[in-house]
Amino acid sequence: MSLSKKILYILLPLLAAMVAVSYFAHWQYVFPVFKQLEREDAITNFERVAARFNEDIVDLDLQNKDWGAWDDTYEFIQGENPDYIDANLGVESFRNGQFDFLFFFDLAKHLHWHGIYDPDTDSLVYDGSFVQRVVDRLQDKLIKTDLDLFSADAHYTGLVLLEDKPVVYSIRPILTSQETGPSKGFVLRGRYVDPSLVSNFIKQIHVRFKITPVADRKKTYSDEIVVTELDDETLEVSSYVFSYDVPIMLVESFFPRDISAQGKVAVQSALFTSILLGFLLLFALWITLRKVVLEPVTHLTQKATAITNTKDYKKRAQVETSDEIGELSRQLNKMLDVIENREASLEELLARLKELSITDALTQISNRLKFDSVSEMEWRRMQREQLPISIIMCDVDFFKQYNDHYGHVEGDQCLVSIAKTLEGSVARPADLVARYGGEEFVILLPSTGLDGATHLAKTVLDKVAAMQLPHAKSDVAPHVTVSLGIASVVPSEDNSLLQLITDADNALYQAKQNGRNTLATN
Ligand code: GH3
Ligand code: MG
Ligand code: MG
Repeated sequence: MSLSKKILYILLPLLAAMVAVSYFAHWQYVFPVFKQLEREDAITNFERVAARFNEDIVDLDLQNKDWGAWDDTYEFIQGENPDYIDANLGVESFRNGQFDFLFFFDLAKHLHWHGIYDPDTDSLVYDGSFVQRVVDRLQDKLIKTDLDLFSADAHYTGLVLLEDKPVVYSIRPILTSQETGPSKGFVLRGRYVDPSLVSNFIKQIHVRFKITPVADRKKTYSDEIVVTELDDETLEVSSYVFSYDVPIMLVESFFPRDISAQGKVAVQSALFTSILLGFLLLFALWITLRKVVLEPVTHLTQKATAITNTKDYKKRAQVETSDEIGELSRQLNKMLDVIENREASLEELLARLKELSITDALTQISNRLKFDSVSEMEWRRMQREQLPISIIMCDVDFFKQYNDHYGHVEGDQCLVSIAKTLEGSVARPADLVARYGGEEFVILLPSTGLDGATHLAKTVLDKVAAMQLPHAKSDVAPHVTVSLGIASVVPSEDNSLLQLITDADNALYQAKQNGRNTLATN
């Protein structure tokens, strides 16, 4: 598998894991924070509804207190102040004071006066049975208990259901204007929590809510605040309102889910940003890896492959970075330097070996091997060009005696001198002098006929004689001499190189027969 694939296989799951973790973390941990904030915000706003109801009760109670602690009322409840009703208990008092009923009770808890506001006719009605129903509902406060309704600081407020309609009420003792007693009775005042009151509250506190009076009072209700996600757009916060442990109404308020919507947008954009950043990071990593690792490694691989294939050890890698790959490239080049040098010295060695293999160790002229290969080649060349080729076989005369007399070391030296003389006798580049074996030499003369060869042979005889190497045991001369056998032919299908050599050898034999220190032709 290529490096790039391996890296991709590592990076892609890494990115996927990053995205998954980011997704999980955002939805699991960040988004719930927004939801929690939204819930807390909704509950805070819901509590403003409850607070507004309390304010309303306090308002009603203060109003009731003002009326109760007033000399005019104090006199009125004692049967005095006959103008009181006309002056204070008109329909406009109910309308302006925003209360729906008002009852005055005397010390014996007997109803002294009552008025009930009828909004449909905008008038007061007097309905004893209604008063009775209110008293029944509030019997815990008014009848059964021994609550001291007449003490100066007594006051009772709360909510009560009247014909399934919630009503805010206040009970205050009737005192003098200085809020002193003894109390002469008490005032009970009530206000319906009706739709218009609710819509007023909504306008004032900007919280949308509705109330539902408790229908079945036998059921048990909890006063816990319950938060319900109605849908993606609305959050409902509800709670039962109790008055003296009696469930009165369910208040449900509704809140647009702006915070969680904003949270959703925030989480989505954070998620999108992190995914985008992840991709960018991956892309940047990929580009960096390509630039820093893959491309240099590919370059090195291609170079190494090319060098292996072409065996051109002069080529060099060209990664010049200061990192590990640059170092690898430099080390590769150093290795190539070594290989190149080895290659050069190996070539030198081979050439030297080749030279040695075709050179005679003693005389340093060409050996039999060289003669064999060159003579074959020149034979074919002369055959193509239809030119004559000649061979002179050369043998030292009475060399056995020379050795016996002068010793082998001198004999060797003699052979070296003769080889030098023979080499000095030929002039053309194609001419070849070789040691044929023992004290025998051969001269190959391409493009040379019998005349030319004979001429050269004479020169050889002269030159060897001129060397004047003393040979005390020679029968033909006092110095070293040679005998030469010459053969010449134009190569064709009818003759052969071997035949030419044999012919030269035969001619040499003839020269020996003729008395040595001479030449013979075939
Ligand atoms: P001829 O005149 O008939 O050629 O007599 P010759 O003694 O030269 O002939 P022969 O072939 O009988 O003797 C050749 C001698 O050459 C034998 C050997 O001692 C000597 N010889 C051959 N090769 C070498 C060599 O490499 N070094 C020396 N020192 N002597 C050699
Ligand atoms: Mg011989
Ligand atoms: Mg000889």
